[in-house]
Amino acid sequence: MATIQNIKGMRDHLPQAMLLRQHIVTTLQQVCERYGFEPLQSPVVEYAEVLEGKLGDDEKLIYRFEDHGGRRLALRYDQTVPLARVVAQYAGQLAFPWRRYAYGPSYRGERPARGRYREFYQFDADIVGSPSPLADAEIVALLSESLAALGFPDFVTLLNHRQIIGGIARISGLDETAAGGVYRAIDKFDKLGADGVREELLRSGVDPAAAEQILALVQIEGEPQAVLDELDARLANDERAVAAVVNLRAIVAALAGLGIPAARYTIAPRLARGLAYYTGLVFEAITPHWPEGSLLGGGRYDELIGQFAKRSIPTVGLAFGIDRLHDVMEQLKIGPQPTGTAVAFVTIFGPEQAQASMALASELRAAGLNTLLSLEPNAGLGKQFKEADRKGARFALVLGPDELAQGDVVVKDLRSGTQESVARGAVVEWIGNSLNLSTATP
Ligand code: AMP
Repeated sequence: MATIQNIKGMRDHLPQAMLLRQHIVTTLQQVCERYGFEPLQSPVVEYAEVLEGKLGDDEKLIYRFEDHGGRRLALRYDQTVPLARVVAQYAGQLAFPWRRYAYGPSYRGERPARGRYREFYQFDADIVGSPSPLADAEIVALLSESLAALGFPDFVTLLNHRQIIGGIARISGLDETAAGGVYRAIDKFDKLGADGVREELLRSGVDPAAAEQILALVQIEGEPQAVLDELDARLANDERAVAAVVNLRAIVAALAGLGIPAARYTIAPRLARGLAYYTGLVFEAITPHWPEGSLLGGGRYDELIGQFAKRSIPTVGLAFGIDRLHDVMEQLKIGPQPTGTAVAFVTIFGPEQAQASMALASELRAAGLNTLLSLEPNAGLGKQFKEADRKGARFALVLGPDELAQGDVVVKDLRSGTQESVARGAVVEWIGNSLNLSTATP
């Protein structure tokens, strides 16, 4: 091999990046469990036919291959289609409504760019088996609380409904198959602006008067109730769109009931979302600090599971893009920036004191304190302190001949640079108290 390298669009995450990623995943898991969601894990590889025929235009991005037995397999593209397969397969063992979360890698053969990878991690949360707008609201509330828990300063969730986009597309007079061009044009509104979208609509065969009507509809903005009133009035002749407005009203009312601040969501008739399987609510969360794309996306897909099971199982859910959250948090310096996992670093004064230092390290570990033990009994203390600092430890502990004789330990606070002699028997408590004090003071 000429050069040692990883595959384009697939990333290695070294420890510092991993610590932030783990913080993100743990936070999302905590919020999910606070909402009563349960974990699920399924394989990264599926039979190709499980994934095929569900993704619309994105189908071409699926990684497919043949295994040793000549079976046609594929890497999962997201965690939604595999969920549908799991639900169909285990329906008898699952109690509906079933709230599940899942975390793992997905694969898409996209052109890599900033924030867009070929291997990326998603964290999904779905409510399977409930058609209620309360389920939709729970998902939106969960995402809103998750982004707040991660420390995102300003984000907003754009809400729309498949049948509002459908109603807008039906204005064009094009049939359902041709309407795909209209969806795609609308979806690019933020990128192309009104003139660009107008051009695309005309190119898709929409007549100029209808194109103006569509453009006016997708630009409606304002308070959720006002936007919904206006959509209701303008789409009054379209039964499915009117029902969609009723559905969004119920979801918005439930969000208010759940205490989600009104500034956290907005109705955006221009939000189309790519995936073909959505049937009801669709949403994306965005932040002005990341104009490249959404932080997460989701919606209701009542018919997808029915493609595997014998009956429809209404479901609503979302996928956080861990890589996007990570990239944005890194750029905005949100969240903890730990340089290691250890709190304490036990130095070794010299070969004769090594045993005592080992005993101290194992005592700290037994007390639940993350502890590094020096591996260099012959190195000077200065060098060992440097290592402790590099590893992000808060305290370096020294057990020299004097300390051993007096029955205490020198504890150096690497943050403040101060040091103190602490009785050997009181070290664990002393460190515990210092940590509590330092989390209490900002
Ligand atoms: P989707 O499955 O397309 O609805 O995407 C859900 C979320 O996954 C998006 O909002 C992104 O945060 C993330 N995502 C999707 N595709 C990629 C990708 N190629 N690279 C990184 N993150 C992605």
